[in-house]
Amino acid sequence: MMTAEEKSVIRKRVRHEIQTLRESIETLTDLISDDEVQSDANDWFTSKENTGKEINKQALVKAKQRLKILNEVLKRIDSPAYGICTVCKKPIPFERMKAMPTATRCLSCG
Ligand SMILES: [Zn+2]
Repeated sequence: MMTAEEKSVIRKRVRHEIQTLRESIETLTDLISDDEVQSDANDWFTSKENTGKEINKQALVKAKQRLKILNEVLKRIDSPAYGICTVCKKPIPFERMKAMPTATRCLSCG
């Protein structure tokens, strides 16, 4: 079982990442809507713009997925199952949970 102190370290780390993600989601959303305004440019430019837009859209989707997972971690962190490997049911080492708060398996069950 993780101590309250360890959980608070993880919670802080997760909250920090959520904050960073919210900022990138905002930036990406702005970039995508800016691109739309410039869609009248010539073909070469347009295709280049579209490529950038696609990359931004994919990054936005990924950021939103990650945000959802992290919000779930914040809900799960106080449950007794948090930090327990779903395969072998052994506690996952704190160092691994700290580095990967979304981990649901230990290193051996990876
Ligand atoms: Zn395991």
